[in-house]
Amino acid sequence: MDRKSKILVLIEQSQDYKLLTTLLERDYEIISPETFPDETLYYDLIIINGLSHSRYKNILVEEKSRANPLFLPVLILTGKKDVDIAAGFLWKTVDELIVLPVNKTELHARVEMLLRTRKQSIELEYSHSRILKQNQEQLNLAVKAANVGLWDWNLETNKVYFSPEWKKQIGFEDNEISDELREWSDRVHPEDIERCVSIVNDYLKNPWPDYNLEFRFRHKSGTYLWIYTQASLIYNDEGKPVRMLGSHVDITECKKNEAKLKLYTRALEQSPVSLNITDFNGNIIYVNSGFTKLSGYSFEEVVGKKPRFLNSGIQTNEFYKELWETITAGNNWMGELCNKNKNGNLYWVQANISPVFDSKGNITNFVAIKEDITEKKKMVDELIVAKEKAEESDNLKTAFIHNISHEIRTPLNAIVGFSGFLSDPKLSSEKRAQFTDIIIQSSDQLLSIIDDIFKVATLEAGQEKVHIKEFELNSKLQLLYNQYRIKAAKQNIDLKVKLLEPDTQFFITTDETKLTQILSNLISNAIKFTKQGYVNFGYSLKGNTLEFFVEDTGIGIPAQMHDEIFKRFRQVETMVARIYGGSGLGLSISKAYVELMGGKIWLKSEVEKGSTFYFTISHKNPENKAFSERQEGNGSLKEIKQITTLLVAEDEDTNFMLLEELLAGSNIIIIRAINGIEAVEICKTNKEIDLILMDIKMPVMDGCEATKQIRQFLPGLPIIAQTAYTTDTDKNKALMAGCNDFISKPFKQEALISKIKEQLQK
Ligand code: ADP
Repeated sequence: MDRKSKILVLIEQSQDYKLLTTLLERDYEIISPETFPDETLYYDLIIINGLSHSRYKNILVEEKSRANPLFLPVLILTGKKDVDIAAGFLWKTVDELIVLPVNKTELHARVEMLLRTRKQSIELEYSHSRILKQNQEQLNLAVKAANVGLWDWNLETNKVYFSPEWKKQIGFEDNEISDELREWSDRVHPEDIERCVSIVNDYLKNPWPDYNLEFRFRHKSGTYLWIYTQASLIYNDEGKPVRMLGSHVDITECKKNEAKLKLYTRALEQSPVSLNITDFNGNIIYVNSGFTKLSGYSFEEVVGKKPRFLNSGIQTNEFYKELWETITAGNNWMGELCNKNKNGNLYWVQANISPVFDSKGNITNFVAIKEDITEKKKMVDELIVAKEKAEESDNLKTAFIHNISHEIRTPLNAIVGFSGFLSDPKLSSEKRAQFTDIIIQSSDQLLSIIDDIFKVATLEAGQEKVHIKEFELNSKLQLLYNQYRIKAAKQNIDLKVKLLEPDTQFFITTDETKLTQILSNLISNAIKFTKQGYVNFGYSLKGNTLEFFVEDTGIGIPAQMHDEIFKRFRQVETMVARIYGGSGLGLSISKAYVELMGGKIWLKSEVEKGSTFYFTISHKNPENKAFSERQEGNGSLKEIKQITTLLVAEDEDTNFMLLEELLAGSNIIIIRAINGIEAVEICKTNKEIDLILMDIKMPVMDGCEATKQIRQFLPGLPIIAQTAYTTDTDKNKALMAGCNDFISKPFKQEALISKIKEQLQK
């Protein structure tokens, strides 16, 4: 049950008092004037009468203000004649007025109305104070939780109030710090104090709205915290600042994080790898300088865009879909990508794209780190190609050794086998002639293989030179025709040479030996690989360029081998049981020669129909005019008319014997020296010597040294150097030593005679 409202009844006349209390006491608790005044007294309403002359009149004001902020209602009872006076109190201290005589209903209505107002006032006040209290508590909590220290500096006394949080922040209990200003100034870092004091003084002299400061502040432990302070001034009525009020916030962690952030940002910025960060939707929000360098796009050009402008088109949409699905599912994506830069050039990157999560585990961003691997990739590709090449070359070499061994053994077998029969006196002259023929053919074949190997080695060493001279082309081709005619006829192949103007002479200037070699290779291949039909060869003139062709109706070459066959040791036929012989060197030598002479070589071919090889050469080539070796000779023994004394410097007995045989029956008298020293000695004593055939490689003293010495006393004596397969450098060395000419071993009789003849005629 609600408590009864309390009414203080301030009525002096006992009769009136009685009447009123009778009307009210059933419903209200009446407090009599005797109990009043009492500081602790609590009541809800005052009823007073005859206010103008009441002795209680003055206490109304006091009581009203004591009750403040609660509303204390006052009801005045007045006689008719005093109504005006009583009304004068209304709005000041009195809230309601009743003109006597009073009836119970009216009194109750007025009292109830005033009590209701009183009640509302109490409720209002209660809720206000509750909110206020709540706010205060929240403020305290926030200050505590935010770790904010407060200070209040009295500018007149110079004393400072430091809040408990302020003290706690730097490790002190509430009672450990005095209210002196030095508690602050002594703790500011020595490097910061001057700046801080100067800013505070400036502020005091001329305040600005947003005062704040950052400085290092010593903790009880001696370490320094970073403090952020904000403050404002409080002024007195005259507008003079009397207090400065502020806060301390510990920002040490922020500072550390800021420093870390700066470091990381700088590291990202300076990193050579490309980095870009996008928002959740894939729109770029940051790129570093590595990105700009690699892609060519500036930050301004790409911010807000999706990185798909980098797509090169190499990767499919499906590829990018999978990438996006991987990262939006919260996983890292790693792999190689081909991107396109601003200039439209493609480049390869090793990319690592990862999602960034917030504290709740939601994806907020994506970070893409990309490293340029274009060069690396190129190198790896090149390495793979090189490795494959090396492996291929290895296989080829094995195949070559296999072939070459077969190619060398076949003629050698014939030479060794048939030469054994020759010593048999019972051998018929017919067979002897047949065997000798086989031996000669086999030797030629052997020589040609060794010759090819030697040429390849010279080409590979880059020592092969072009030796140009003028010669007549038509007769040269006619000669080749004659050489191959019999061979072709034996195979029932119709060989034809097609000359531009057969009856006229066509002089050209080029390397005759190399041209002959190329044509020989192509013609002999054409005959070798043709079972029936024809082989045609010839040339046409295209401006300054000669285009040669060799056409056959042979087995043909599959298209995929058209480039391959020009590589060393390459043959279409790879089986062990090969039908056609050959070392696989001819075409590679031909190609190298054609290119040395500034031309190119190619072919058209169809399997089982035939092939046509073409090559071009420039026939007026003034470059590389080196000495020329005229190996081809046409001398005969009888042409050496006069008796000639020939000194042969040769350490190998078989070679010397061969020479003796080659020159037997001529007018040449042969003297032998077995080394350089002997050759020099013989020359000093024997004045008959007309010519020397000087081997270069000899024991004790080599041919070059011997020649040099001989030249000192016989400057005019013709000396021909004889060398095994040697390079131009070796030949030049011999010429420099004083030799007049040279001849390469093994040599044919005609070539030797021709050289001797030439020297004797000088
Ligand atoms: P070789 O003839 O000594 O094997 P080449 O280098 O001259 O070496 O030729 C390489 C290969 O090219 C031959 O083994 C052969 O497979 C193919 N070839 C060359 N010329 C012809 C041709 N006229 N017809 C068919 N195949 C040919």
